Amino acid sequence: MAYVNENYLKLPGSYLFADIGRKVNAFKKDNPEADIIRLGIGDVTIPLVPAVIEAIHKATDEMSKPETFRGYSPEQGYDFLIEKIITHDYNSLGIEFSNDEIFISDGAKSDTANMQEIFGADNIVAVTDPVYPVYVDSNAMAGRLGEYDSNEGKWTNLVYLPCTAENGFIPSLPEKKVDMIYLCYPNNPTGTTLTKDQLKKWVDYARDNKAVILFDGAYEAYITQPDIPHSIYEIDGAKEVAIEFRSFSKNAAFTGTRCAYTVVPKELKGYTKSGDVVDMNKLWNRRTSTKFNGVSYIVQKGAEAVYSEEGQKQISEVIAFYMENARIIREGLTSMGLKVFGGVNSPYVWLKTPEGYDSWQFFDKLLKEVYVVGTPGVGFGPSGERYFRLTAFGSRENTKEAIERIKSLKF
Ligand code: PLP
Repeated sequence: MAYVNENYLKLPGSYLFADIGRKVNAFKKDNPEADIIRLGIGDVTIPLVPAVIEAIHKATDEMSKPETFRGYSPEQGYDFLIEKIITHDYNSLGIEFSNDEIFISDGAKSDTANMQEIFGADNIVAVTDPVYPVYVDSNAMAGRLGEYDSNEGKWTNLVYLPCTAENGFIPSLPEKKVDMIYLCYPNNPTGTTLTKDQLKKWVDYARDNKAVILFDGAYEAYITQPDIPHSIYEIDGAKEVAIEFRSFSKNAAFTGTRCAYTVVPKELKGYTKSGDVVDMNKLWNRRTSTKFNGVSYIVQKGAEAVYSEEGQKQISEVIAFYMENARIIREGLTSMGLKVFGGVNSPYVWLKTPEGYDSWQFFDKLLKEVYVVGTPGVGFGPSGERYFRLTAFGSRENTKEAIERIKSLKF
């Protein structure tokens, strides 16, 4: 008999964006004339920049000739890309890594989910709440989170670290001891960040408690303020306790092309039940070699071009474009008296829904009355209730139009 992994059966219904899609499609069916603007899903809309396209074309040509054709890439990624990452993303911050501490992957989504495989089943997991759902669901699939309580919208063995306007979106250290801590900064969905001092508290906690921080920096490129850390390794001691995930998705439009990287420092320590210290870099390398055959050469060449002078200039223009959208959203909503967060170091604007509206009621009002689609905050966790996310990834015209329409609403 083929027994199933019953943890999958505990997962609540369907995925947030599937629920939204269903609602929007039903509305469209009844209102085919409605001109719907989507500021919901966090996908980019501006294509790959010319420097990347050129590199991809060149690499494709290389693959067509016997003398330059390449088969399997190293599972961990090509050194040409890893070296650019180390120089540009880390040495520039005064941080050193050797090539075998960087692992090129096909996405921060897959790696944040896959990474939990090298952790024991009994670890206590903590997530900021609201949270990118992948961290929660992947640990639930592994059986680490206990049971799902649908009344509370919570897993029984998961430690939620509430992040709301009341605490300035700064998670407090947990009362109960935890072993794996997911932090994402700049944050999806709230768009907020932590300062170095705030991040240091977490690094110190992890060091004191022999815990590991899984730090998702997928939106690092959107940081505009000078005092915000770009990497967790800017904090002393972080190499002993933190894994960092980065992606080319949001900074360079690789959402459909797929390339990301994960940093697992050699200093990073895990422990056996009997207290022996284990080098987690070795475990991740073992896992990568066994289960992954590398990102395509063509795509890694495209990612390398992100670091060229032209590539940097071109992607920074795209990011500036999205950040101007974020400003338009932020200022437009603020001018109507709404409480608005994020959107300064992040493409996400997080707003408090007006009195009398929960997340889904606000979603319905926007969809039905002004044909604008956003994301209900409660879909990201219980502390997201009464919040709503809009993204800056739309066109300028749609962003402006959506805000004008929202401003016409009466609450
Ligand atoms: N991490 C966060 C916080 C995200 O919001 C997303 C995508 O929305 C990802 C990771 C996915 O990144 P990738 O496209 O590299 O899989």
